[in-house]
Amino acid sequence: MTLSTAAALAAADRARIIHPYLPGSAEERVVMTHGSGCRLTDAEGRSYLDATGGLWLAQIGHGREEVARAAYEQMAKLEYFTSFWEFSNDRAIELATRLTAIAPEGLGHVYFTSGGSEGNEAAVKMARYYHHRRGDTSRTWILARHKAYHGVGYGGGSATGFPVYHEGFAPMMPHVSHLTPPWPYRSELYGGATEPEAVTDFLIRELEERIAEIGPGNIAAMIGEPIMGVGGMLVPPADYWPRVREVLTRHGILLILDEVVTAYGRVGSWFAAQHFGVTPDIIVTAKGITSGYTPLGALLVADHVAEQLLADTGFPMGYTYNGHPVAAAVALANLDIIEREGLLDRAPKIGGYLHDRLVEHLAELPVVGEIRSVGMMLAVELVADRSTRAPLPMLQPMLPDVIRRETGVIVRDCAHSLVLSPPLILTEDEADEAVAAMRSVLERTLPTGELRS
Ligand code: PLP
Repeated sequence: MTLSTAAALAAADRARIIHPYLPGSAEERVVMTHGSGCRLTDAEGRSYLDATGGLWLAQIGHGREEVARAAYEQMAKLEYFTSFWEFSNDRAIELATRLTAIAPEGLGHVYFTSGGSEGNEAAVKMARYYHHRRGDTSRTWILARHKAYHGVGYGGGSATGFPVYHEGFAPMMPHVSHLTPPWPYRSELYGGATEPEAVTDFLIRELEERIAEIGPGNIAAMIGEPIMGVGGMLVPPADYWPRVREVLTRHGILLILDEVVTAYGRVGSWFAAQHFGVTPDIIVTAKGITSGYTPLGALLVADHVAEQLLADTGFPMGYTYNGHPVAAAVALANLDIIEREGLLDRAPKIGGYLHDRLVEHLAELPVVGEIRSVGMMLAVELVADRSTRAPLPMLQPMLPDVIRRETGVIVRDCAHSLVLSPPLILTEDEADEAVAAMRSVLERTLPTGELRS
């Protein structure tokens, strides 16, 4: 079979590839072949604006030759050797040194993975193992939140708080307990509380009660995304994380921040921990560490946790690609670009511009409930009725599909919100283009979820 035409590629894809989340009956394929900046081109030559940064990661945009050169040079020099036991490589060491220099104070150690799900598996095991090493062997429970997304492993995946991700995969890992997410727009979750401090009061009370129910001496860690991405870019009140941290510390429970989406500039700081003024025990990162040029993840680990893992037998789990030198070289080139182009400063500026344009052009539409953002994580929550805040039914074809087919702008729906997480190099013109594309479809969207033609 020759794969020289777009139709042949699509046919071969349909015949051969198992896609995540795509039913076999779906005919359409969008086969990307090129990327440059915030633009993508498919096999038919159609152009797209990537307003989601792939899956929330293309910090520096597509097609940067400098990164490709870094990968080439590293492959020609040393493509791979293991990082198990006493073995290491110069690039992984350089990257770990760089990451600990930008991390919150006290997170002085790094454990490498190949992505976010692997990272959360490692973090959950690390938390349990930390307590085990200290003789606190009954600390096995993990606290998480409903609407959380921590990837698809059985550890992190059990902490994921959407039943749909568990269906058909049971039994999930035991000893995981889910709490209410911080989602101030849905004040009904908090007995009608609307003031941010009252929302936090509710959530802290629930946290304290849950800890008392399970028993503080049985809980290893709480895991949470600083801003919940798949849950619909849920931004917590400013005092939420510092107050959660205080409660956990008081009970000897570790805090794992899943920063797979929020790290490396997306919210305007290296880590969202710094944005919220909180120091966790473990930060899980992936995605933006390489802007997606190669798979890579890194856990930043507090020194007091690392101390337990470095003693005697070391940390007894490792992935083959731990500390991969090519991925590390790519990450270093990516961090160079983020620094050189001032993308930490750019994220809140262009994110603020995009937020303001969304408010200007979409806020008046009857199906728009709330527009929220931090830096370059933005959401437009859709409702059938603004007074009751009843969610907009999400019908087929999904709104993002319609927006893409009609305008070439790629956005995504997450839990009744349209979400945007573009490359941090997005221009104002591109931001305007994304907003116009969304408006052109949302202004025809009826409260039933159907589209007026
Ligand atoms: N954690 C969060 C917060 C994520 O958003 C994701 C993926 O979107 C993951 C973990 C899983 O990462 P990966 O898909 O690299 O395994």
